[in-house]
Amino acid sequence: MAFRTLDDVDVAAKRVLVRVDLNVPVQNGVVTDLTRIERIKPTINELHQKGAKIILLAHFGRPKGEVSEENSLKQVVAALRKVLGLPLHFAPDCIGAAAEDVINAMADGDVVLLENTRFHAGEEKNDADFAAALAANGDIFVNDAFSAAHRAHASTEGLAHILPAVAGRAMQGELEALEKGLGQPVRPVVAIVGGAKVSTKLDLLSNLIEKVDALVIGGGMANTFLAASGLEVGKSLCEHDLADTARKIMRKAEDSKCAIILPVDAIVGWHFEAHAPHQNYGLDAIPADGMILDVGPLSVERINSAINDASTVIWNGPLGAFELAPFDKATVAVARHVAERSKTGKLISVGGGGDTVAALNHAGVAEDFTYISTAGGAFLEWMEGKPLPGVDILKK
Ligand code: AMP
Repeated sequence: MAFRTLDDVDVAAKRVLVRVDLNVPVQNGVVTDLTRIERIKPTINELHQKGAKIILLAHFGRPKGEVSEENSLKQVVAALRKVLGLPLHFAPDCIGAAAEDVINAMADGDVVLLENTRFHAGEEKNDADFAAALAANGDIFVNDAFSAAHRAHASTEGLAHILPAVAGRAMQGELEALEKGLGQPVRPVVAIVGGAKVSTKLDLLSNLIEKVDALVIGGGMANTFLAASGLEVGKSLCEHDLADTARKIMRKAEDSKCAIILPVDAIVGWHFEAHAPHQNYGLDAIPADGMILDVGPLSVERINSAINDASTVIWNGPLGAFELAPFDKATVAVARHVAERSKTGKLISVGGGGDTVAALNHAGVAEDFTYISTAGGAFLEWMEGKPLPGVDILKK
């Protein structure tokens, strides 16, 4: 997929509207995780060095068109200044005179953050008048927020119809990594999908089956597949009503020549809590009063051997209840194996979506994966093969 980037525009002395992801966790007015801010730093630094007037657009929380202190982007100003190491001004609205006054006073290279775009109902409606009001303050639109690109909002999609629009460096990095993961991957590709439920990942499984060579299914969702194959899963998390769906997915996989790798053994616990009494069982002997909380050591061996044969791995969802030791064991072991092979150049690995980032951080391997996406919903929709409006509009 070819898309326009910062290399395609001359930004010197221009007013550049940069859509960024500043939807960061805040506790008592303090930003507790700087990852998302660090990711946008290269784009902002580059624009600063090229003498652009940098005007940051972002949403925060879900204010649904209402102005509120708790959703004000004022709260991220201090963290943004610290990470960027640049002077930063704040405008109390993203459109109208309040924004204009601050922008008119900018010198080349200055950075201004505009207040929450979602304080206006027109943002989420992708209202043409609201998009035009945003566009009035800029000459060029740079989208650096992949995490918001699955939504056709005024600041993610509408603006790109009005101004010349390009991907920022964070967006570019994400798109290039995803292209390597699933767009034009080096084969064989193995997908690892875990997590709680099949019901939340039906589209994802259907899409992956058509694109990958092998699909590892772990986590609570594997129980639904095991039960659908006639195995007893005791008190495990299991969507028995999805047995037909699970069988359909397995048939589709066979038709698409995608190998499905299900667990062959399981760690069973008797309470859903850390350090609960537990034991390893073969799948034909799961106790009726127990819960499968992790895949077992033989399954880990099998998964790791599939990874040894792979050139690309994409990963969403933990293999077990990784928040509760020792039911994190399989997730950690497989994550380390993927990381090790990635580090030595044998594997391209892309992970992301929901709890996956937390699980890979917990395993201490996030740095060694080829790419970890922090995008959440947008990453999942990409894995589901859905069009991302904020990306499509940047295509060449
Ligand atoms: P998801 O958001 O769908 O990726 O699900 C992640 C959640 O699935 C995590 O909170 C895990 O604790 C949970 N999970 C994974 N495996 C199991 C399991 N075997 N039983 C219960 N919960 C699980």
